[in-house]
Amino acid sequence: MSPSKRLFVFDFDWTLIDADSDYFVFEHLSAELSKIQLDSIGKVQWTDLQQRLLGELFDRGVSREDIERTLASIPFAPERIEALKLMKEQGSDLYILSDANTVYIETVLKAYNIDHLFTGIITNPASFDSRGRLNVTRYHGLDKQPHQCPLPCEPNLCKGLELQKLIDSHPWEQVVYMGDASNDFCPSTRLSRERDDLVLARRGLSLETRIKERPELVKAEIVFWQDAQDVLEITRDIFFGRNRTGVAFLGSSLGSTAASSTTSLSTMVESSSSASSAVDSLSIDEVKTSSQVLSAVESSDSKMFAQAVKA
Ligand SMILES: [Mg+2]
Repeated sequence: MSPSKRLFVFDFDWTLIDADSDYFVFEHLSAELSKIQLDSIGKVQWTDLQQRLLGELFDRGVSREDIERTLASIPFAPERIEALKLMKEQGSDLYILSDANTVYIETVLKAYNIDHLFTGIITNPASFDSRGRLNVTRYHGLDKQPHQCPLPCEPNLCKGLELQKLIDSHPWEQVVYMGDASNDFCPSTRLSRERDDLVLARRGLSLETRIKERPELVKAEIVFWQDAQDVLEITRDIFFGRNRTGVAFLGSSLGSTAASSTTSLSTMVESSSSASSAVDSLSIDEVKTSSQVLSAVESSDSKMFAQAVKA
């Protein structure tokens, strides 16, 4: 492997796709189970809840083909596909790090013929049994010791620990993490300013809220994006420089001397040398009352609420 490789790691729901795949399946295949899914938020661990509801979906006669056809209908923005292809063409390694499951993600990627772009997918394992019942289990199983992340990551998956393993696996030229939700905050704290790492945070969702609550924990440059076109522009900036079109997303960490129109928080946020000790002192209760959930309730958007609580 070339030492000059970049590592791109993506969340899936509301990051690579503009939907929550867990919610999308039930919304389109069973209105009743979709309502149960929403009503169960916060009462049952999310992966365990999907496993139970997928059993009920099977009992109601929904087939493997129904689920696969539904997943293949999730829109995948062409600009995101173009951005992913550019990253790959430039020799980068691409990973997905998600709290969905292997069947959902692989089915969507195959539907758009982009599965070959990714080196790996880290998510909850899933498979259809011989009858066509989809089973999903926790990535960090109940047979293991708790992952003990000091941040309030879900017991089934600490994205920060998994990203750290990827970071430690190679002397990357740069690491870029892209996400939207509260569970993308922990991996965002693992990136390095010295390596010019980037956090690409979706604007207006709970990752932005978490970053603004605890900016001292995120040492890397933060760039906010809103839609697939933004992602494509940022990707072009990363590889070809931010002056190439006059559309500038990236800040000074890429070495440009031009006036910045960046949406980065970098001018507001001082990187903290005591970030790790701050993580250690973070109380779980403190973050569980995060404005992420409150803002979702206020928005009265059930899909966003599902995602916010899930994360
Ligand atoms: Mg997400």
